[in-house]
Amino acid sequence: MHTRRPIIIANWKLNGGLDLLCTSVASFIGKHHEAEIVVCPPYIYIREMLNFLRHSEVFIGSQNVSKFESGAYTGETSAQMLKEAGCEFCLIGHSERRSMFRENNASCQIKVARALANKLTPVLCIGENEEQRDNQVTKDVLTRQLEESLEGIELTGDDICIAYEPVWAIGTGNAASPEIAQEVHQFIRQELTCLYGAETAQKIRLLYGGSVNKNNAKDLLSQQDIDGLLVGGASLDPDHFLAICQQATIQAEAQLV
Ligand code: PEP
Repeated sequence: MHTRRPIIIANWKLNGGLDLLCTSVASFIGKHHEAEIVVCPPYIYIREMLNFLRHSEVFIGSQNVSKFESGAYTGETSAQMLKEAGCEFCLIGHSERRSMFRENNASCQIKVARALANKLTPVLCIGENEEQRDNQVTKDVLTRQLEESLEGIELTGDDICIAYEPVWAIGTGNAASPEIAQEVHQFIRQELTCLYGAETAQKIRLLYGGSVNKNNAKDLLSQQDIDGLLVGGASLDPDHFLAICQQATIQAEAQLV
């Protein structure tokens, strides 16, 4: 069994200002965490956040990446630019981008390829909506999202993260139960095993996202196939975010014993 380092990713979305965001991570400076911690600020704050976190082991991620490399694409930011700016991770295919900005599996596939080519770790977000869950087609939706978003993509396993974010759980306060989340994560790992083989699938870190907070983080993280959490709202609250990261650190330390 492969040991996967727990990872917590903060998705700050379109929230600021910089002071609030700095407060949310101030407690990480100068401290070592066994878990990997990543914050994804709005693009405009990436540089300042890197500077603020320079004495920490916190990584920076972007919330999106362009599917284009360069050229006349007003408002876009390429994977190469994000890497140059200091990003190590990038979210791809978040449900808000899929529902509000017409992203789909095909555009995600191009973005994943661009990220990998520029040595950014893609965090591919997948998940079913409420109607799909009610119609019991969750597994079909996830299979399709994985197959199409990863079509033709070669992976080693430690070069990508997959975030399972059921749309009905995002920002609703209605998180998936640890049991349901585990069942789905196990299914995702099975699908990845079909696509890439067991050795690679065992290395891929799977994150749960959707109304995570300091009260449910422990139970979610203790599930066998949940290797991390993608945190939206609660990552803006220093008390919640620190507690969530501490839980991941406890989990990581337990793996070392
Ligand atoms: C998200 O948007 O990625 C997310 C998980 O949000 P929240 O934690 O607020 O549900």
